[in-house]
Amino acid sequence: MLISQMFKRKPCVFSIECFPPKQSVNFANMQNTLRTMKDLHPDYISVTYGAGGSAGGVSTVEVTKFLKNDLGIEPLAHILCMGSDRQKAAALLNELDEAGVRNVLTLRGDRTPTRPESPDFRHASDLAAFVWQTKPEFDIHAACYPEGHPEAATLAQDVENLRYKQQAGASHLLTQLFFDNGKFYRFLNLARRAGITLPVSAGVMPIVRRTQIERTVALSSASLPSAFTRMISRWQDDPESLRKAGIEYAVNQLRDLIEGGADGVHLYAMNDAGVAAAVYDGIRDLLGD
Ligand code: FAD
Repeated sequence: MLISQMFKRKPCVFSIECFPPKQSVNFANMQNTLRTMKDLHPDYISVTYGAGGSAGGVSTVEVTKFLKNDLGIEPLAHILCMGSDRQKAAALLNELDEAGVRNVLTLRGDRTPTRPESPDFRHASDLAAFVWQTKPEFDIHAACYPEGHPEAATLAQDVENLRYKQQAGASHLLTQLFFDNGKFYRFLNLARRAGITLPVSAGVMPIVRRTQIERTVALSSASLPSAFTRMISRWQDDPESLRKAGIEYAVNQLRDLIEGGADGVHLYAMNDAGVAAAVYDGIRDLLGD
């Protein structure tokens, strides 16, 4: 099913993000994780970009195929401008099409030393326009940033730039993770005033391990409300309590977002089925499951 249809049928669409394993020997483990996540009734599962192949990892296409054909869960495949061009993108879209995967999240991609810039797609909106042109039957999705993309001069400018994604055929926007719901509501208000009419899913990541604080939180450039920093300082040396508190924080954030009328909520579950299940337990009554 096209994900855009889900927003017409449900008050709040629930989705989960996973990433392909870096080594193919770990694919069996991941398949078990995804089987467990099926019990959480996600409307779709998004799969971050991974090329697989010579790097030894599992590709996004392989994971989306497994979700679609073995588990019957609708996948959303992340596809990137970086490292791609028209020819490569067309080949990837054909591969997804053959697997029955028609939902794609068009992204520029993170800049890394090993990823060349694309000669054909400067921004996600260029890739979105290409998908729209070559595969009009596909459903196109794109990213947005409640606190502004780090490269944008201002939040207002970044919101204005979302118009390019909307004009290029995107049907839905998915946010970067954030810890302060106030930032999300403010962003949504700005986006609606700027003429962005697409449904927006709010992305939340439960912080359950100290390593996540050092890596993910620092890299995301999300602002940290005092309730969050208090939780971290209190429990960072007590792994079990941190896990419990991190799940509780995410559940409170998600409950507020669902009750606040978010079109969708997206769980950055970091391939941890246990954490995803605990969070789902805390919100399932609001999802109508
Ligand atoms: P763009 O839309 O190109 O935006 C980048 C900057 O350009 C912004 O400042 C924007 O305001 C501006 N801009 C946008 N369009 C235009 C335009 N047409 N003209 C002028 N300026 C413009 N990275 C990965 O490598 N792999 C993944 O799987 C992945 N998944 C992600 C999933 C989500 C939900 C999110 C939020 C991010 C993800 N990322 C992923 C990270 C993402 O690729 C980076 O944040 C990247 O820096 C920007 O991607 P974008 O698609 O928003 O880029």
